[in-house]
Amino acid sequence: MSSDAAHERLPGLLLVLSAPSGAGKTTLAHRLRDASPDAVFSISATTRAPRGAEREGVDYHFVTAERFADLVAQGAFAEWAEVHGQRYGTLRATVEQALAAGKLALFDIDVQGGAQIKAAWPQQAATVLVLPPDQAELERRLRGRDTDSDETIRRRLVAARAEVARGLGSYDYVVVNDVLEGALAQLQAIVRHERLRHAGRWDPEAARVAEACRRSAAPLG
Ligand code: 5GP
Repeated sequence: MSSDAAHERLPGLLLVLSAPSGAGKTTLAHRLRDASPDAVFSISATTRAPRGAEREGVDYHFVTAERFADLVAQGAFAEWAEVHGQRYGTLRATVEQALAAGKLALFDIDVQGGAQIKAAWPQQAATVLVLPPDQAELERRLRGRDTDSDETIRRRLVAARAEVARGLGSYDYVVVNDVLEGALAQLQAIVRHERLRHAGRWDPEAARVAEACRRSAAPLG
């Protein structure tokens, strides 16, 4: 990747990152943001309560169920979905502002939401499924989180497998988060390739890495 990449003005990109929980997506998304001068996170609205150190307007816009329903009725969402019994949505204004400003907008949303962003902005959006190295590793990461019951872990695993299956059937790219630095480099190549492509240009090295991450159209075995 060329050293002047940070100084180039490139077209905006909506980069959707989805993953089964436990794939290390959040760390990866933050590393990508920190390494990209013009990256912004899309702040979703949610009906769930803040957790830990989460802050209003930074992690989410925390809203009541009534407020969320009003926003749905007003057509304020580019997409919204129910995840684990709570509602989450991407505000249309967030997407439009990011595109108008030519930003790299990062969306940490689920596969149903990502597919809707892609459908609404097919030219400006790229969808990436982040996978843990293997199924056993996913289980280990889900178990390693806390002291939840076997039943809770089992439900999370079922949900994780469904998320993976949906992403493998529809997303543009797949990045395996085996070694963090390697996964980050792949994501950066995808971003560069997509942004250059929108400008009618290409970087052979970024193109090679990104195309190697492109989801195969072949049916799953
Ligand atoms: P959490 O409650 O752990 O922050 O997020 C739960 C799930 O909701 C994650 O899979 C996250 O990607 C997804 N999510 C967060 N915001 C949005 C959103 O705006 N739209 C959709 N479709 N999913 C979201």
